[in-house]
Amino acid sequence: MAEKLNANVADFIKAPLQHYIGGKWMPSGDGAVDQVINPSDGKVICQVGMASAHEVDAAVNAAHEAFPAWAGTPANQRSVLLHRLADSIEKHAGDLAQLESLDVGKAIVNSEAFDIPFGVEGIRYFADLAVHTHYDIPLAVKHMEARTHRVPYGACGFIFPWNFPYDLLVWGIMPALAAGNTVVIKPSEVTPLSTLFVCKLAAEAGFPAGVINVINGTGSKAGAMLTSHPLIKRMSFTGSPPVGKLIGETCGRNLVPCKLELGGKGAAVIFDDVDVHATAQQLAAAITLNTGQVCCTATRWIIHEKIHDQLLSEAAAILKATRIGPALDRNTQMGPLVSKAQQERVNRYIENGRKQGAAVVLEPQSPRIAGHEGGYYVSPSLLAGSSDNVCCREEIFGPSAFALKFSDEDAAIRQVNSLSYGLANSVWSRDLKRANRVAERLIAGNSWINAHNVFAYGLPYGGTNLSGMGGGVNSPETFHDYLRSQTIARPLG
Ligand code: NAD
Repeated sequence: MAEKLNANVADFIKAPLQHYIGGKWMPSGDGAVDQVINPSDGKVICQVGMASAHEVDAAVNAAHEAFPAWAGTPANQRSVLLHRLADSIEKHAGDLAQLESLDVGKAIVNSEAFDIPFGVEGIRYFADLAVHTHYDIPLAVKHMEARTHRVPYGACGFIFPWNFPYDLLVWGIMPALAAGNTVVIKPSEVTPLSTLFVCKLAAEAGFPAGVINVINGTGSKAGAMLTSHPLIKRMSFTGSPPVGKLIGETCGRNLVPCKLELGGKGAAVIFDDVDVHATAQQLAAAITLNTGQVCCTATRWIIHEKIHDQLLSEAAAILKATRIGPALDRNTQMGPLVSKAQQERVNRYIENGRKQGAAVVLEPQSPRIAGHEGGYYVSPSLLAGSSDNVCCREEIFGPSAFALKFSDEDAAIRQVNSLSYGLANSVWSRDLKRANRVAERLIAGNSWINAHNVFAYGLPYGGTNLSGMGGGVNSPETFHDYLRSQTIARPLG
C-alpha cells in the first residue's frame, strides 16, 4: 500500500510552487503556472509557476550580483555551508525521498537507499575538495615571480532532465558552488519538486541570497533564455543530444564554456565464462533501475552465442517477477515511467522494433494497478534480432533491452562501437585480463567490469561523441572545471 505523505511534504506542495530568486520565493510576473503530475496515478500533485523573461533575467542578475561576495568568501566557510546543507538533507532525507518518488515515479525504497544518501555524500565530497585545493600554483619561469591563480567564473547556468533530479542537481551545482560560483538552475518542468525543496533547505542552512536561484519553466522558453543570457559565464546541461546541440550552439556563439552530459545506448558484452544466473540478475536490475530511465544503463546485451539462449531465458524469468507498482508503495521494485509522453515513447519504440522484425523474448504488458489506473506503467521487455533494428540503435529510455549474439571478441567490440553514443558500457567475464583488454577498446566515457551503473565520488563520469563533452561529473576535475586560470607575473630586477 502506498504510504501517506509526511507532514513536511504535504505542507511543501500545498501552495503553488514558485521561483527562488535572490533569496526570495517569487511568483511568475505574468501569472503563468503549470501542473506537476504524479506518474503513479496521473493526478495533479501541485501547481508550479512558469518563468517569463522577467524571472530569468532577475535570477541571473541576482546570481551576478551575489558573485563577488560568494567568490570572496574563504573556501573553508563555503565548505561549512555545504556541510550544513548536507546535515539538513540528512535530517529531511525521508521528506526528500518522498518528494523525489512522488515526482519521478521511482520506487521509494530506491530513493531512500540510493538517491538521497548518495547526494549527501556528493555535497560533502565537493565541500571537502574546496578546502583541499591549491588555488595558487607557483610557476618556474626565469627572471619572474609568477603563479597560476584559480578563480571561479561567475554566474553559472544549469539545466537538468527529469530522471534523477536530485542527484543530478548535486553532481552539477555543488562543485560550482564549492568553487565560489553562483548558480541559476532550471530543473525539468516535469520534475521540479526536489530541486525546490533543496533550495528551501539551503536558504535555511544560511546560503546568502542570490548564491542559489531556481527558475521553473519549459526548455524552449526559460531554458533557452537562461542559456543565452549575457551575464551567464558558464553553462552546464544534462539531457538529450538534440537539446545538448542547441545549447552548445548558443554557448558557442556567445563564447561561453559549456559542459554537456547527454544520452546513451550502453552495451553489456557478456562472455561465456560468466555465472549466467548472477549476470542475468544484475542485467535485469540494470534495466529496471528507475524504470529504465537511466542514461548509461545496459540496453544492448551482446551475448556470447554459447550462453545467449540460457541468459535470455533466465533474465526473462527474473524480469517477469518484477514487482511493479506506485512509487510510494514499499513493496514496489519498479515504479511507473515519468510521464504519459514517456510511456507512449517506450510503447512506440517497441512496436516499431517489432515491425522491423525483432523477436520479442519477453512481451511488454500494460500493467493495471488497482487504485492507480491513471499511472504510466509499463513492464520490462526483452527483444532480440538484428543490430540495425531501431530498438538496438536508439535510446528508448524505458525498461527494455535488445539482445545480440557474438562469437568473436573483435566483432563484439565493433558492435558496441558502431553507434555514435559514447556514455557507458560493461564487460562481463571471469578472465580479468580479457575484460580489461575489451574495456579499454570500447569507445565511451566509462567501461565497467562485471557490473553496470557504477558510481562513486572520485570516479569521473562523462560521455564522449553524442553522449557529451566538456569534462563530466563526480571527480576532482569536475571541481576544477568551475575554476578558470589566471596567470599573475612580476618581472624580477
Ligand atoms: P531533454 O533534453 O528533453 O530536456 C532536458 C532539459 O532541457 C529540461 O530541463 C528541458 O526543459 C530543457 N530544454 C529543452 N529544450 C531546451 C532548449 N531549447 N533550450 C534550453 N533548455 C531546453 O531531456 P529529458 O527528456 O528531460 O531527459 C532525458 C535525456 O537526458 C536522455 O537523453 C538521457 O540519456 C539524458 N540524461 C543524460 C545524463 C548524463 O549524465 N549523461 C543523465 C541523465 C539524463
